[in-house]
Amino acid sequence: MTLSLSGKVVLVTGGSRGIGKSIALTFADAGADVAFTYKSAGAAAEEVKRAIESKGRKALALQSDAGDFGAANAAVETVVKELGRIDVLVNNAGITKDTLLMRMSEADWDAVIDTNLKSAFNFCKAVSRPMMGQRSGNIINISSITGVIGNAGQVNYAAAKAGMIGLTKTLAKELASRNIQVNAVAPGFVDTDMTDKLTPAQREALLNIIPMKRTAKPEEIAGVVVFLASSAASYITGQVLCVDGGIVM
Ligand code: NAD
Repeated sequence: MTLSLSGKVVLVTGGSRGIGKSIALTFADAGADVAFTYKSAGAAAEEVKRAIESKGRKALALQSDAGDFGAANAAVETVVKELGRIDVLVNNAGITKDTLLMRMSEADWDAVIDTNLKSAFNFCKAVSRPMMGQRSGNIINISSITGVIGNAGQVNYAAAKAGMIGLTKTLAKELASRNIQVNAVAPGFVDTDMTDKLTPAQREALLNIIPMKRTAKPEEIAGVVVFLASSAASYITGQVLCVDGGIVM
């Protein structure tokens, strides 16, 4: 049993910043070669690629819209061609477009479902063939506690994140006999660009519902993801791990 990912190849969607960047760098620290996708931030992606390489690992930065089915297939093919295999997939790419249902446009619904949920379908399907061929694999879906307990103003996001949990449990059942684990991590509130938009009043209200009375650093999510991908977690599948300072219990 070890937390080492030495010799493994990991693919992280949305790895140019925030939680995805931290996941990519933590996997590199654990010894893995890391491929990651990003939508548009080319300079930030180059910086992450260089940081992975400076740790002595191979890195691949792929510009790819996670919600695009064909692009996801092409990205997975490129990773297998360039790095030889895929041992771990982390579906991390995500966006929010928050407002009350009464005001939510069809475009806001579609964009959030495509980027957060359809993307997970796209990448799970694309990696399932190489992972089944290898007779091993590990998929980790970054959901949210919003998908577990709901949150006013986020019907699109909550539906997508709850959908990821259904996908996780079902795929875990479908792939368990092939030695492929599928789990979800549901973060609470993490300090990233996504939560930067909160007003001081919203932040204050938030801290009141967190038993640990603080938000998380991206590294505190990344460590759990690497644990789930490691042999220390080899008998865990179909689970949703809330990493939220105690909100959901
Ligand atoms: P972020 O906005 O800082 O980063 C999101 C990442 O996703 C970026 O790298 C961006 O390039 C990428 N991305 C966005 N749309 C994409 C697309 N169409 N194709 C490919 N990549 C795309 O957000 P974050 O806070 O780091 O969130 C990462 C994940 O964690 C998301 O799935 C988010 O829903 C989830 N999450 C975040 C929090 C939080 O408090 N920050 C809480 C729970 C869950």
